[in-house]
Amino acid sequence: MHELGITSSIVAIVEEAAKGRRVARVTLEVGALSGVMSEAIAFCFDVVTEGTALEGAKLEICEIEGRARCDSCGAEFATDTLFALCPCGSYRLTRLRGEELNVKSIELMEAA
Ligand SMILES: [Zn+2]
Repeated sequence: MHELGITSSIVAIVEEAAKGRRVARVTLEVGALSGVMSEAIAFCFDVVTEGTALEGAKLEICEIEGRARCDSCGAEFATDTLFALCPCGSYRLTRLRGEELNVKSIELMEAA
């Protein structure tokens, strides 16, 4: 599964940022045009975090709506796919937003 590798990379990034401390919560931003299924990431998260600093951490996923601009008429609109048609009939679209796949924030456990 594609998302398993992505989830592993995310966990590695967070572990590095946490520098050995336990992680309580991870918030991700996933764009609608990133090609990544957030459900699949959530599914992989529990498996991948086992035995890491993220074990038991909560995962929150913020989905970011995709936006595109038409190269022909300049209209901007929301879309979940780049295979959309502009109302003017053009299919030449430029992605403005929605390819994000970011670790937005990390919450560490309080030191006991
Ligand atoms: Zn157009």
